[in-house]
Amino acid sequence: MKEDYYDILGLSKGASQAEIKKAYRKMAIKFHPDKNPDDTEAENKFKKAAEAYEVLGNEQKRQKYDQFGHGAFDGSQGFGGGGMDMDDIFSQFGDIFGSGFGGRSQGFSGFGGGFGGGGRQRAKGGNLRIRVSLTLEEVAKGVEKKVKVSRKKKPSDTTFKTCTTCKGSGQVTRVTNTILGRMQTASPCTACGGSGQIIDKKGQGTDAHGLKMTEETVSIKIPAGVEDGMQLKVGNKGNEPVGDGVPGDLIVLIEVKDHETLQRDGENLHYDLYISYPEAALGGSKEIETVGGKVRIKIEPGVQGGKILRLRNKGLPNLNGYGIGDLLVHINVWTPQTLSKEQKEFFEYNLKDSNFEPDPKKSDKSFFEKVKDMFS
Ligand SMILES: [Zn+2]
Repeated sequence: MKEDYYDILGLSKGASQAEIKKAYRKMAIKFHPDKNPDDTEAENKFKKAAEAYEVLGNEQKRQKYDQFGHGAFDGSQGFGGGGMDMDDIFSQFGDIFGSGFGGRSQGFSGFGGGFGGGGRQRAKGGNLRIRVSLTLEEVAKGVEKKVKVSRKKKPSDTTFKTCTTCKGSGQVTRVTNTILGRMQTASPCTACGGSGQIIDKKGQGTDAHGLKMTEETVSIKIPAGVEDGMQLKVGNKGNEPVGDGVPGDLIVLIEVKDHETLQRDGENLHYDLYISYPEAALGGSKEIETVGGKVRIKIEPGVQGGKILRLRNKGLPNLNGYGIGDLLVHINVWTPQTLSKEQKEFFEYNLKDSNFEPDPKKSDKSFFEKVKDMFS
């Protein structure tokens, strides 16, 4: 059952032409597609109001409608069944709002160029964003990650046709009157989202745009050396657009997990190594962790706390391929917190020995000089 034209505009049967015009004007402004982008309900109300006004705003048509109802126009008006074309609606605006308001001027070659001759830009689907978490070991080698992504895709049973509002141009050109004269502006067509196409047949289980949420496994190649917070773009793995065009991109936000023992500083890594008093005095070897696995390093007898050992190329690779960073091993000599009676006696005995007297000049380089060397 078709809705009554008077009901659509919220009028009683005896409404005057001025009242009809006023009611329609109010609805046209409220439900105008420019004000309600991607709102199909608003668009429907906009179309219905236009259709009602097309009849009630014309005394002859109104009389027929009052006498015969909707049957008066079946087959003869074109919009009896399928509703009004957007072009008809906009051309009607001249009558109601005065020429210039919200109307459309087909065939204008367009401001700033681009619309008239060059053809419209291909529509692009929306981008998708995901987060990928990496270990430092994965950063060191680079890694291929397979992630599940929910993308909007066009199933084969959804078909499209040329947009009736913009005639496939994807652009709507409007002329408005301003104090500077008539201004022409072009904006993306809201009926088709700028793609120039609208749905002909909706596929099974699709949304309002004929697209279906589809889960897909996407393989992402992550190069070695990436940093926390970086973004990678995987082209064409975002949502597909309505109608023709290219899919959006999949934006991958890189997250690097903290490592248990290694601290990152760009391409270099830092490792805190704790050795005991006897180890510092006698020397030996210690196993340490690197991003490439465990390695054993030599501790020279008499090593000082604060010494930094540089392991060349045991850091992270440069993202752009400019070499590999180093692993800097910071030597910390661990002081025992408690002592046995014998240990206490040993240290008390050695306290008087001049060999235990600190003498930074005698050691190859002082701690601060080494730090200075590192950063120079
Ligand atoms: Zn369009």
